[in-house]
Amino acid sequence: MSESRDMRKQELAANLEVVEDRIAKTLSDSNRVREEVTLVVVTKTFPPEDAVLLYELGIRNFGENRDDEGAKKQPLLPADARWHFQGQVQGRKIGSISEWADVIHSLDSLDHASKFASAPSAASKEFFLQINLEPEAEHRGGISKELIPQFLEKSPVKIFGLMVVAPLSVNPSAAFKELSVLRGHYGLPGLSMGMSGDFEEALKAGATHIRVGSSILGSRPSLA
Ligand SMILES: *Cc1c(COP(=O)(O)O)cnc(C)c1O
Repeated sequence: MSESRDMRKQELAANLEVVEDRIAKTLSDSNRVREEVTLVVVTKTFPPEDAVLLYELGIRNFGENRDDEGAKKQPLLPADARWHFQGQVQGRKIGSISEWADVIHSLDSLDHASKFASAPSAASKEFFLQINLEPEAEHRGGISKELIPQFLEKSPVKIFGLMVVAPLSVNPSAAFKELSVLRGHYGLPGLSMGMSGDFEEALKAGATHIRVGSSILGSRPSLA
C-alpha cells in the first residue's frame, strides 16, 4: 500500500469512527438500534479511490448527485455496494442513472417516475419521494406536501419513503419532525434526511437513511 493511500485510509477510518460514535450516542438516547439506520456515505466530487477505501473500511452504501460520477464509480466496486442517487433528476439521464443506482432519493415528478418504471430493473430499486417544505423559497427540488397523496396514488413505481433536505430558513429539527409525521401518515417505511450538519437531529426525528459527506470525506473543493 502506498504511503498516501495508507494515510487517506487512516483519515477516512478516523472520521468514520467519529460519525459512528455520534450515530450510536444519538440512537441510544432515542432508544433506537443501529440496524434501523442506513449510513449513506456521500462520495460526490471525491475520487473513485476514496470509494474503494471506504468499501475496504466496510461501507456498502454510497451517495452521488451526478449521473456521470456515479456511472464512473459504480463499476469499480464489488456488486454488494449499493449506490444512491440523490441529485436533481434530469429526464434524459434516467436511462443511465437506472444502470448504476439502486436507490433514488430525489424523485419529484410523475413523468420521471414513468421513465424509471420503464427502465431495466425498476422493480428492484427503492424510490424516495423528495419533499420541499418551503415551496415558496428558492427551488431545491421536491414536491410540496399537499401533492403527496396524488403522487402516491399515481406513481408507477412503488414509493419506499420520503426524503428532505432541511430548508435553510427553517429550524432543521422542526422540518425533520414534520417529515416524520408525514411519513407516518402515509404509512411509508423509509425516511431519508440528515446530512453532516444535522444528522443527529434527523436521527432523533426517526430518519432511516442519513446522507453524510463532508464529515467523513472532508470539505468539498466545489459545490455539487
Ligand atoms: C451533498 C449532499 C449531502 C451530503 O452533504 P454533507 O453536508 O457533505 O454531509 C446529502 N444530501 C444531499 C441531497 C446532498 O446534495
